[in-house]
Amino acid sequence: MDDAAPQRTEATLLTAMARVSAARHGGRAKCLQRLIRLDLPVPTTMALPFDTVRAVAQGGALDMDALLAPFGAAPLLTVRPSSQDPDWGGPGTILLVGMNDARHAELARALGAETADQLYRRFVETYAVQVARLDADDVAADDLPGALAAYADETGEPFPQDPARQLLHVLRSMARAWEGTSARLLREARGAPADAGLGLVVQATALGMGPGESGAGTVQFIDPLDGRAQVTGRYVPQSLAGVSLRDPEALYLARDARGPSLEARAPAVLEALRGYGETCRRRLREEMTVEFVVTDGRVAVLDAVRVARSARAAVRVAVRLAEDAVISREEAIGRIEPRALAELLHPQIDPRADRNRLVSGIPASPGAATGLIALSPATAQAMAARGEDAILVRRETSPEDIRGMHAARAILTERGGASSHAAVIARGLGLPCVVGAMGLDVGEATVRIEGRTLREGDAITVDGTRGEALMGRMPLLSAAPGGAMATLLGWADAVRDMGVRANADTPRDARIAHKLGAEGIGLCRTEHMVFEDDRLTIMREMIFAETDEDRRGALDRLLPLQRDDFREMFRIMDGAPVTLRLFDPPLHEFLPSSRSGLRGRAEALGRPLSDVTRRAEALAEANPMLGMRGVRLGIVVPEIYEMQARAVFEATVAEGLEGRIVVPEIMIPLVSARREVEIVRAQVDGAAAAVRAETGRTFDFRLGVMVETPRAALLAGEIARHAAFLSFGTNDLTQMTYGLSRDDAGRFMSDYVRQGVWPEDPFLTLDAEGVGELLSIAAERGRAARPDIALSICGEHGGNAESIAFCRDAGFDYVSCSPFRVPLARLAAAQIAIAAGPGPVPGVGNGGSSRVGKGSPA
Ligand code: PEP
Ligand code: MG
Repeated sequence: MDDAAPQRTEATLLTAMARVSAARHGGRAKCLQRLIRLDLPVPTTMALPFDTVRAVAQGGALDMDALLAPFGAAPLLTVRPSSQDPDWGGPGTILLVGMNDARHAELARALGAETADQLYRRFVETYAVQVARLDADDVAADDLPGALAAYADETGEPFPQDPARQLLHVLRSMARAWEGTSARLLREARGAPADAGLGLVVQATALGMGPGESGAGTVQFIDPLDGRAQVTGRYVPQSLAGVSLRDPEALYLARDARGPSLEARAPAVLEALRGYGETCRRRLREEMTVEFVVTDGRVAVLDAVRVARSARAAVRVAVRLAEDAVISREEAIGRIEPRALAELLHPQIDPRADRNRLVSGIPASPGAATGLIALSPATAQAMAARGEDAILVRRETSPEDIRGMHAARAILTERGGASSHAAVIARGLGLPCVVGAMGLDVGEATVRIEGRTLREGDAITVDGTRGEALMGRMPLLSAAPGGAMATLLGWADAVRDMGVRANADTPRDARIAHKLGAEGIGLCRTEHMVFEDDRLTIMREMIFAETDEDRRGALDRLLPLQRDDFREMFRIMDGAPVTLRLFDPPLHEFLPSSRSGLRGRAEALGRPLSDVTRRAEALAEANPMLGMRGVRLGIVVPEIYEMQARAVFEATVAEGLEGRIVVPEIMIPLVSARREVEIVRAQVDGAAAAVRAETGRTFDFRLGVMVETPRAALLAGEIARHAAFLSFGTNDLTQMTYGLSRDDAGRFMSDYVRQGVWPEDPFLTLDAEGVGELLSIAAERGRAARPDIALSICGEHGGNAESIAFCRDAGFDYVSCSPFRVPLARLAAAQIAIAAGPGPVPGVGNGGSSRVGKGSPA
């Protein structure tokens, strides 16, 4: 340990007027200065800036006289880290610097020998480990003389007595700890830049010991889990910050039936703390955790940090601060991370519980559920019928699983990506879902998970927010929609300038979407409407039909069902726009994949197994996602889209007769050529003319195109001539732009992201460079050809904040996303509008957006 000659000091005494900044001295120093400005009783504090701390780490000297001058002749000090952002952490606080034989004698007189011994021994041990880098075991001793002797033995010199020398070495050890590799990696993982600096604050130690009410604690004035106003925290009598010597019970702060409280012992102390909390709230405009020490009834405030809180508490706090006019509504909107709203919409694992992780995968749908493993949809249904909570665990899912998915509380799959079948359905149903869980091996009767074997009926928990499955049942916090969240979203709606619709496939989805504030339905995948048992059979009959007559029979039975579904959707949305996408059934989703599936199909269709097998083979495609899907089916078998168009128009007329004016939007999927649109347009116009003639009623409708192939994006100008709106299906567009299967991406996605090949999963966050370029080209060409064209996105990216920002920049009119993501999209759109400030909305006047208001395409 070298003591270089004094050189200079850059330490600053914290006063109201001192020149201190978070960028130079760190967030803690700046915050302490704010507390001083608010007249809170902060002990004397010196702040060392980043460059001084860096120099100290490299062995540079400090003017210790100047640093110690404010603390008097016999200082007792606490040294704390002060990184720029408190979330980046820092080395642990070191207390009682300055403890030596003289100070020990003085404390023995004031507090008794036993307490003085304990304090001194504690410092010797800390100093030995943190500064002299000895093993804790080497200095562990039964008493103070033993500890001092052990120190001397191990280092070859007596314990240093000079406070200046102690302090310099404490500062140096903390400065060097910050420069170490593990500390750097840890803070980088929390978002700190590689060269993030560390400031240090040196504070007079307030001893919460001695006569009268003395002790130390922390207090906050909200419940950090739900944000309600409540005094929480802990107080330990006869202790100093973070250290209690006698193992006493911590007390409640406010009077509490469960046990003794600080308020009962010293009401004036709690009253003072309440005042400080309120001052912080009003002036720092935040709910703060206040760290304090009480010495003989007098309170010192050592520090105050923003209360660490759950998302639901964050929303409540932001809303209450705005309601109390402490912050503006816009600031309240800006304080909430849109993604965090998922935590309010779905149950979550109690953050206080210990987690026993089984496996990680892609977080495909947020929320958490706990229950028993079901390895087949039938088991999931049986469990649900018995009132048990089933967790459906599958290699992957297909439409055959749909009833089991409805019955389950959560879904976990071995395969699949963020827009695979399981992911899309789970998001629609609001079920927690983890897909692509590598390390999971799903068999017929067991699941092997990284060396463990689990069976049907074993309890697990799925955390779809984090993308993890956990062993056993975990305690859950229930969802907390409404209340503060509804207020915040109301404010968000008032400032956003982009519409938010929902992807809703069934009346159930539509009801949820409407409740969560969707301004319309931007995508109804009508093929999903036929997943109910009776309809699925008819749909399959239609797909399996070998003759026109058979097909016609199936379609005739589907028509009234579809018409009724459409009517219900129109009613639920109550005049808001509803976009019905014509069938886009990737055929493999409707074909059985196993022998038992084929047998079941033969039974349901009343046909021989051999017939069904032959037909399934004839329909099988090597690559169904690029096969007979979407508009291709409509072109090859025109009766299907004709039936759907007729169902839409009959529903429109029927609603009209009941006084509800509906302007349905019909959307054509998977287009890649203008001619496809022309052909379908003629079919749809024909159906409209027929229904008008038959009913004698008039009605309007809008025909739009899904842009989800790269070719459609490039030819958007031509396509736009025939379309009132273009909606970007970025799931397929991402799949086709990357040449990356939506259903298989989960296998290597994490490797690709980890190695930095892709910054993020492009199925979750829109790839602005590639897929985004296609969107921009298409938007520009589409608008050039038809200035009033409405533009939107309906792929899963419609519910992703970064992707929404991209869409606004590109001048889109609205986004459409899963119902449970609607609140996120409303908030994100508001934040983006606020960040952009007042001024022209992108796309308007420079190519002509049809933006006419939220959610209403031209
Ligand atoms: C898309 O491809 O982005 C889309 C919305 O359609 P689907 O997910 O049904 O293919
Ligand atoms: Mg698609």
